[in-house]
Amino acid sequence: MIVQSATEIAEDFSPEYWREKDKTHTFPEDFWKALVEAGFVGILIPEGYGGGGMGMVEMILAMETLTSQSCGLAGQWFLCLTSIFGGLSIAKHGSENQKKNYLPKITKGMEFCLALTEPDAGTNTLNTQTMAIEEGNGYVINGRKTFISGADRAKGMVLITRTTPLEKVPKRTLGLSLFLVDLPNPAIEVMPIEKHGIHYSKTCEVYITNLKIPKENLLGERDKGWYLILDTLNPERMSFSAAASGIGLLAISKAVDHARQRSVFGVPIGSHQAIQFPLAEARAKIEAARLLNYRAAWLYDEGQPCGAEANMAKVAAVEAGIQGVYHAMQTLGGYGYSVEYDVERWWREVNLIRLAPVTHQMALAFIGEHVLGLPKSY
Ligand SMILES: Cc1cc2nc3c(=O)[nH]c(=O)nc-3n(C[C@H](O)[C@H](O)[C@H](O)COP(=O)(O)OP(=O)(O)OC[C@H]3O[C@@H](n4cnc5c(N)ncnc54)[C@H](O)[C@@H]3O)c2cc1C
Repeated sequence: MIVQSATEIAEDFSPEYWREKDKTHTFPEDFWKALVEAGFVGILIPEGYGGGGMGMVEMILAMETLTSQSCGLAGQWFLCLTSIFGGLSIAKHGSENQKKNYLPKITKGMEFCLALTEPDAGTNTLNTQTMAIEEGNGYVINGRKTFISGADRAKGMVLITRTTPLEKVPKRTLGLSLFLVDLPNPAIEVMPIEKHGIHYSKTCEVYITNLKIPKENLLGERDKGWYLILDTLNPERMSFSAAASGIGLLAISKAVDHARQRSVFGVPIGSHQAIQFPLAEARAKIEAARLLNYRAAWLYDEGQPCGAEANMAKVAAVEAGIQGVYHAMQTLGGYGYSVEYDVERWWREVNLIRLAPVTHQMALAFIGEHVLGLPKSY
């Protein structure tokens, strides 16, 4: 049912629609409305709060289907920002009041963002400098975040700060906390960053100056934020793996149509092995990556450790997805480079997944240490 419903939504938003949104840097309001109305935004939210009460397996099925049916990355992006960053974090670790306050609103389309990355910490989240200092009945927060997607429109933010300085914690992974922040807020300045693709959604610098929030806005236990956020970051990885596979399938299907019709030496170009085999190889790798990602999602839904599978699925999916789009571009020849044929847009989109949400190198470092049992490499 999820696949069927996602296919129907995707069919309503043509390649022309996405080309135009990308070109004009416009948020796809009607697409977002369709996701909300069909219940996709609430998939991960328990039924008692108005959601679908389903899990990551269903979420990645939805994302894979949407991304593979003309939406491209948009089919995953908006669901990740709101449903995973906001919905899942609150459903997992929120107090009863926080759940009652935010979850029903999220199912109705309240947008969220996640503010984790900092300019000086980068991949090394434990070097987070943004600091929340307890004062009276609340916290005062100062700091700076970068690359925060959707911060320009979101009405809610999951903000990661230090609550205890690094030099005062017994273990580096302690001392971080998560906060729920309502947006817009006069203490928070948001500045979009010009980027390479995904122009229908903004990614922003975020400056936080003397932001005062009550203690009730702490999400989960103080100083344990690193452990809590992993319950959001692993699903985020799975969601980007679903997107990489979906975009790969989308590009391959476009390439196959073209390769059947285009004939330059008297036969369709798809009859040449040089065109056919790389597409076939990418397709096979995408199928393997999808299965690994379903396994990661299933483990997550079962409450079992899933970090190894989530990282391995990410590594496999992004390589397979990039290979699919790369060879689709080769198959289309010059048309692959022209905006009208969409492959160049998917190329810009799929390449992000090597850099974010976790870089390819850091995913490999995780596998090296936790799957292979080698010494930590950094
Ligand atoms: C379009 C976009 C949207 C984003 N959206 C969000 C968002 O919504 N919220 C959010 O919090 N963040 C977001 N990010 C941030 C993203 O998660 C980070 O850019 C990413 O984690 C990498 O951090 P960095 O850019 O600081 O790279 P750096 O940490 O500077 O790393 C640079 C390079 O060095 C490599 N490297 C660093 N250390 C090691 C090591 N020990 N071993 C091997 N290689 C290493 C990295 O793998 C990488 O290739 C977004 C980024 C982009 C581009």
